[in-house]
Amino acid sequence: MPALLWDHLPQVQESLQKHQPWLIFTDFDGTLSPIVDQPSQAVLAPEMRQALLVLVQRPHIRFAVVSGRSLEDIRQRVDLPGIIHVGNHGLEIAGPGWHFSPIHPSETRERILSLAKELEAVFLDLPGVLIENKSLTVSLHYRCLAEGFASQFNARLKTFTEQLPAAFAMLHGHCVVDFRPHVQWHKGDACLWIKNRLGLADAAMIYIGDDRTDEDAFAALPNEVTIVVGFNAKSKARFSLADPSAVRTFWKWLADQG
Ligand SMILES: [Mg+2]
Repeated sequence: MPALLWDHLPQVQESLQKHQPWLIFTDFDGTLSPIVDQPSQAVLAPEMRQALLVLVQRPHIRFAVVSGRSLEDIRQRVDLPGIIHVGNHGLEIAGPGWHFSPIHPSETRERILSLAKELEAVFLDLPGVLIENKSLTVSLHYRCLAEGFASQFNARLKTFTEQLPAAFAMLHGHCVVDFRPHVQWHKGDACLWIKNRLGLADAAMIYIGDDRTDEDAFAALPNEVTIVVGFNAKSKARFSLADPSAVRTFWKWLADQG
């Protein structure tokens, strides 16, 4: 079970003092920004942006936002100078002047487009369901599913899942199911790839997130400062913080450390 971060600050401080630079990874929804009903409404609050701006300008810090959103979406929402953006749970990575994807993007876009159309045909008549084509993945959001439709939704999802071609995999998040190409590559792989790409073998890594997909990163970084947002006794993260507001307090603490 993760330990409350505030009870272990000296330990975190000690490990950060041993290694520089610091490579910081953060999820967006539920971590930098509170979860909202419609994904399009999530914004980076001015005070959070300000706290992050202080960090990203420090010479010993490299900063990456890792999200399930598309690369373009997360870039528009965050857009801090010099940072790395990771979209579609690691399938798209972009830094200043460079871009990487572990899959073949144009082929994938076509397959995802036709899968999105199939999802629309099956689910769109259920009130509150939202289907979001994110180019390399497609999301089926059901946070706003109208009351009384849960059993219909679950039955259709079960059938859809059983008939899903083997070329696709499913990722379950908070009130969302992501359909993506079947590839052995997750957020943790993306983080390790970035560390290597930047040539930062000695960097200390910090990873903060609240998603199920962030658990892959926590597992891939067992000796680093991994932090789950919210209460999750089963999380593989070493530490926990309560909510995005506590995350902002942590950024401020970090800025005072170096
Ligand atoms: Mg999240």
